[in-house]
Amino acid sequence: MDDLCKIYAMDIGRRASLLNLLELKTSDHQISKILQEYVLNKSAGKIVEHFYAYLLQYDEFSSILDPKLIPALKVTQTDYVRSFGVAFDTSQYFNHRLRVGYVHKKVGLTLGLYQCAYRELQQLMLNEIPENFSKEGVCCRDLYRFIHKITALDMTLAIETYHDALVMDIQNELDNVYVEKARLREQVRTDSLTGLYTRDYGYAVLKECLGRLEDKKDTCLILADIDHFKVINDTYGHLAGDEVLRQIAAILNSAVRDLDAVCRYGGEEFLIVLCRSEADIALRVAERIRQSVSDNIVQYNGESIHITISQGIAVVESESDIMQLLNKADMALYQAKQQGRDCIVMSGANDTRN
Ligand code: GH3
Ligand code: MG
Ligand code: MG
Repeated sequence: MDDLCKIYAMDIGRRASLLNLLELKTSDHQISKILQEYVLNKSAGKIVEHFYAYLLQYDEFSSILDPKLIPALKVTQTDYVRSFGVAFDTSQYFNHRLRVGYVHKKVGLTLGLYQCAYRELQQLMLNEIPENFSKEGVCCRDLYRFIHKITALDMTLAIETYHDALVMDIQNELDNVYVEKARLREQVRTDSLTGLYTRDYGYAVLKECLGRLEDKKDTCLILADIDHFKVINDTYGHLAGDEVLRQIAAILNSAVRDLDAVCRYGGEEFLIVLCRSEADIALRVAERIRQSVSDNIVQYNGESIHITISQGIAVVESESDIMQLLNKADMALYQAKQQGRDCIVMSGANDTRN
């Protein structure tokens, strides 16, 4: 069993302070003994029977009480009455009463209903004290006062855990929402076939780069497109084409740094956003890609597939419009295709490499 006193920081100091606030003193142990011995111990069963009769006449309670569990609940409730106020200043007592809040929270008893039910239980206990009660120097008033104090103590402890259990439930739900949110964010930004970023995520990275003043002038885009990919599909099948896409994706990823973003732009087209890279760096990256793609022979079902890739590069100058930039890269890519494929064209530079 968890040590709830520890969990709720109900150490000896806090326990003493709560008892002090309720004006429960060591001398009250004598009253507790008399209350149990002459009143509660023998009438606990009767009190609990009346208590359940009260609960079951109201839908608010009967709807959360499983009929099958009622006999067991009555036993627990009888134990509760028989331990009412006994050794009230011990950590065991506090621990038990803190647990009550957990249990009530679990069965769906709201704090409002809990208080209503508790009023009835308290009344039933008070009813058992004869008006002229007097034993060992303890009178009826002493017992009344003690019952009120212990009721307040038990309720304070139960409410403490009840609130915390509620907060923990909300926290758990929030944690689940955060995990789900992270999963969805990852799903939205990842292309399922290649594991690369999606086009939309590429746009977001580009927008961020262009938004940063220090990076703005040093952002380059590479638009890469596999050459004659349709022929690969037609010759070796769609699944072979998929494997080619996966291998090209791995090559592209290994050609760039962590701060760059490689995205699947379309079917067999890729967008690479190079932040903080000048044109000559972009050109070097593109050449590394071109060479690696050409050197990498894809093995599929016993077939060796040779691939080449064409690339267009756009360098940010004064413009910061994403579409304008992509258009520049696209035109450069188009020129690379025109110039025979397996080559790189730098936008506005008439610079062709292969
Ligand atoms: P070019 O050199 O001019 O780029 O010619 P291409 O054949 O590569 O270009 P085209 O646009 O004619 O064909 C692209 C093909 O890519 C057509 C399409 O079926 C294929 N494709 C697009 N997405 C996928 C995919 O996820 N898997 C496979 N296997 N093929 C795809
Ligand atoms: Mg193509
Ligand atoms: Mg294409």
